[in-house]
Amino acid sequence: MSGKRMDWQFDEPFEICPICGNPDIEFAFNSHNSMIGFSGFSIYGCRICGAYFCNPQPTKESLEIFYIKEMEEIAEEHILEQSIERYSNLERRRKYRSQYFIPFQRHCSGGRVLDCGCGTGVFVKVLQDAGYSAFGIDISEKAIEMGTSELGVANLQHASIDDFKSDKPFDAIVALTIIEHLKEPIRFLYKANSLLEPDGIIFSHLPTCDSLQFKKLRDYWYWIMAPYHLFHFSIRSMEILLNQTGFEIMQSYPFYPSWYWAEAIANSQGLLAKYNMWRKDPDFVKYTIKIDEILDEISLEWGGTSSIQLVAQKRSGLEVPLGD
Ligand SMILES: [Zn+2]
Repeated sequence: MSGKRMDWQFDEPFEICPICGNPDIEFAFNSHNSMIGFSGFSIYGCRICGAYFCNPQPTKESLEIFYIKEMEEIAEEHILEQSIERYSNLERRRKYRSQYFIPFQRHCSGGRVLDCGCGTGVFVKVLQDAGYSAFGIDISEKAIEMGTSELGVANLQHASIDDFKSDKPFDAIVALTIIEHLKEPIRFLYKANSLLEPDGIIFSHLPTCDSLQFKKLRDYWYWIMAPYHLFHFSIRSMEILLNQTGFEIMQSYPFYPSWYWAEAIANSQGLLAKYNMWRKDPDFVKYTIKIDEILDEISLEWGGTSSIQLVAQKRSGLEVPLGD
């Protein structure tokens, strides 16, 4: 696959945990090829905060080449079309609203919202439909283009959070499956803090290595997805990161369903190629959906879904540096 062809360049490895600063880190495993991820990236874990992270990390330049060239050529169009479907298909829109908008609305009932890494702007559109003054930014020009032209979403901008400027603060920042992709999650959270009103919130959705699937499958956990995912946060490590950047966690929601158990198990048994063949049979797909459902329910009862939604509020009276 494409990521394999890349001539990856790496930064100097971390000697201490990039989240909690503790030197008690150790090599955990190497990543494998999966439906989305690539093999050969080394993953470390921190014994103190429970975070896992790619170590060493690919350089900023390598990642830019990977995202812009490789992804746009091979997968992006397909991914973006699927993304648009989450709004254009009414049944999927209903599901999307209940999974993302309903929990968000409990913490922010209106006002100015910025979705960072908005993709095609589906969440921005859902917010605008509900009367919010919603904006979205994304580093994918194509995603912004498609959202604007195909979904008619207003206020989308091709920008990175680092470059983004606003005259007026926001009531909420949204970060759906973004933080785990970033080389410097701390820098992102400092910037998010600086863009918020004094009592503003950040609403994030992220995979968590506190999940049952990670405990059971480890290196074959679906969300390892190297090098897309550079960090795998435990809730404890997110708490440390958020406190450090001037936030306090208000609420954590288990995200259900967390998906892909059958696929991850097949991969862990060296059966991914066969699994892809088997999936051509609709009866087999039916069978895997049921397995995923049952294991997701068990994860929920056990207290460890594969991803969570975290709501954190900006702490008042705290001057936050911009992380430079
Ligand atoms: Zn740590």
